[in-house]
Amino acid sequence: MKHLPSRGKKQTMKVIRSIKAMSGFSSEAAAGRKIGFVPTMGALHAGHVSLIRKARRDNDAVVVSVFINPLQFGPSEDFRRYPRDHASDAGICRAEGVDVLFCPSAQEMYGPGFRTFVEVKGMSDVLCGRSRPGHFRGVATVVLKLFNIVSPRTAYFGAKDAQQAAVIKRMTADLNLPVRIEVLPIVRGPGGIALSSRNAYLGDNQKEQALCLFRSLREAARLVEAGERRSSRIKESMRRIISGCPQAETDYIEIVDPRTMKTLKSIGGGKCLVALAVRVGGIRLIDNVTLDVK
Ligand code: AMP
Repeated sequence: MKHLPSRGKKQTMKVIRSIKAMSGFSSEAAAGRKIGFVPTMGALHAGHVSLIRKARRDNDAVVVSVFINPLQFGPSEDFRRYPRDHASDAGICRAEGVDVLFCPSAQEMYGPGFRTFVEVKGMSDVLCGRSRPGHFRGVATVVLKLFNIVSPRTAYFGAKDAQQAAVIKRMTADLNLPVRIEVLPIVRGPGGIALSSRNAYLGDNQKEQALCLFRSLREAARLVEAGERRSSRIKESMRRIISGCPQAETDYIEIVDPRTMKTLKSIGGGKCLVALAVRVGGIRLIDNVTLDVK
């Protein structure tokens, strides 16, 4: 139990890089103490911090992982240039009272004989999965590995990646994993932009244009509030807003059941997820809103 801080007592944060050391920490922690886990790809911002704070409030120990998972990037995607800033990430985690910052290497996570993948069928090839083939297979595989290494009681995810959260919830239920999944609201910046590590790629003008994602979601909410129930009409209005921004190009706009990711032609009688992905100056951004329609 020596690694674990007693409740309320300040202890220095450990940076753990090896899987064995991480598992070792977790098995010492297992004696009835709750580990809260926040998996990330780093370049931490206030969105990540909201997850860390909730984990800190509700658990005895908090583990944050920073792992830029090569398995979830396509060959032409931004794996190589994805923002990396260990010093800043470590500073944020330390200030938030994180107990362990876990930064495994890709070599150790995916050793030479690696051949096992997790596929959540039917939910992984729609929305983001359609334009990013293999992405959710990479996500589900790494999250299962991280759960096995970290042994959390609860893992925290952001609603910003709503499809990811749904895939992880499905996997956790299907494989009887002893982990609770908590999904926390999207943290937004000025003008409503959803905070994202990828916003660092945007210039000032592009940041301005990126506000069209949130504007289109607000319009969807307004239409629904006014009684519109036809998905096609809502999507049409959203598309018009996006096409008013010269540097923005719609990848998809979808209205789906938030648990199954199945397309809804009309909405009503429960929750629906309005989700979109838009390229702004070539940078792919996502955003969404969940509407509860009686
Ligand atoms: P990432 O580092 O982008 O893989 O994100 C790690 C976790 O932080 C995921 O569960 C994301 O959904 C969550 N996250 C990222 N951005 C936000 C945000 N703006 N608000 C809330 N959660 C977020």
